[in-house]
Amino acid sequence: MIENRDDLYGAPTPGALADEVFENYRRYVNPPLARVMKLSGSPIEVRAEGSTIWDQNGKAYLDFAGGYGVFTLGHRHPRVLAAVREQLDRFALSGKTMFNVLLGRASKRLAELSPGDLEISFWCNSGTEAVEGALKLARVATGRKKIVATHDAYHGKTIGALSASGREAFQTPFRPLLADVAHVAFGDAEVLDAALVDAAAFIVEPVQGEGGVIVPPEGYLKRAWAICKEHDVLFLGDEIQTGFGRTGALMCLDHDGIKPDILIVGKALGGGLYPVSAILADRSLMSLFQPGDHGSTFGGNPLGSAVAIAALDVLVEERLSERARYAGAKLMQGLRALQSPSIRDVRGRGLLVGVELDRPARQLAYALLERGIAAKDTHERVLRIAPPLVITDSEIDLFLERLEDALVAFDATT
Ligand SMILES: *Cc1c(COP(=O)(O)O)cnc(C)c1O
Repeated sequence: MIENRDDLYGAPTPGALADEVFENYRRYVNPPLARVMKLSGSPIEVRAEGSTIWDQNGKAYLDFAGGYGVFTLGHRHPRVLAAVREQLDRFALSGKTMFNVLLGRASKRLAELSPGDLEISFWCNSGTEAVEGALKLARVATGRKKIVATHDAYHGKTIGALSASGREAFQTPFRPLLADVAHVAFGDAEVLDAALVDAAAFIVEPVQGEGGVIVPPEGYLKRAWAICKEHDVLFLGDEIQTGFGRTGALMCLDHDGIKPDILIVGKALGGGLYPVSAILADRSLMSLFQPGDHGSTFGGNPLGSAVAIAALDVLVEERLSERARYAGAKLMQGLRALQSPSIRDVRGRGLLVGVELDRPARQLAYALLERGIAAKDTHERVLRIAPPLVITDSEIDLFLERLEDALVAFDATT
């Protein structure tokens, strides 16, 4: 697949390119990551298309990490690519002094596809930035301060979002964080009754992604939503990872007919081509953001709007939610049939799947990489699997074969 020298960024050989990248990482990017590069066999991504990534040696990898949900449409989906190119030929970023056609269209499209009357969106660039917006809106709308989140939640790494994230290890070095954030067990709605007193908002992922692909018990989210209503507390759905078909419905909360007060989206909204995120709320809630309350220089820019429109169209027209349901069931069935003493649990929803092992999953991720599969560990012992929703049946079979082989090696190395 390495067609020409362009794939080597001007380096004379793949080895020379790897040396350059390693040296730059070691000196200027991230020394520990440079060491990881050696451990993982130094693949450098130089090209990607559909469900495949190619490294500097022309070796192909099936992408079963899927950017944790970024590559829902695969890499460089032609429709999204065309939309970006078209807009690049007009202008790329908004001058911010005039109105913008594509921002209007993207907002309209997002509203049409979102549950209930969530029709006003605020656009930004990264997931964590969207979470910040949601937390600010919740505080200003309720006049209350307290935010309730769940243990092991992941909402991002800027200070506000990090405060809501439920991982001690990520938080400890940066304390003090936001005051008035409480964490409760994920999956137990009854603890919310006490926790939500005087709270502004409850923020939750419908399936915890980074936390190890934790699917809550049936009925949990609906009960949590009802308790929020009883306490007049805003329900914030963080669908940055679960959104846009990933779990077999457009939004994961759609499975339960839940309309969050604020919907937070990112990752796949960018069509795998450009960073885009947004928060959505109904008219009365969003109008409580007064002019000047919130803003983003790059948020809502025309390139981001162009990719979002194209991504949403592709999701609907290619019926990718359905595909996630079907392919997810096939994948889970295959995973459950694997005979490995290292596997503790297989769980997931749609094409967001976790394989929990009896020890850290990183070496398994490396073993997969060697075998031409890109996959990633999360929360130490979990292999998180989130391939593009356009993944084919035969690619899933190939993945399962290679995983089985990698597990043989992994099992032997206790
Ligand atoms: C990835 C993620 C975020 C943070 O998004 P960034 O774009 O990395 O800032 C927040 N919440 C969830 C559920 C995520 O998966």
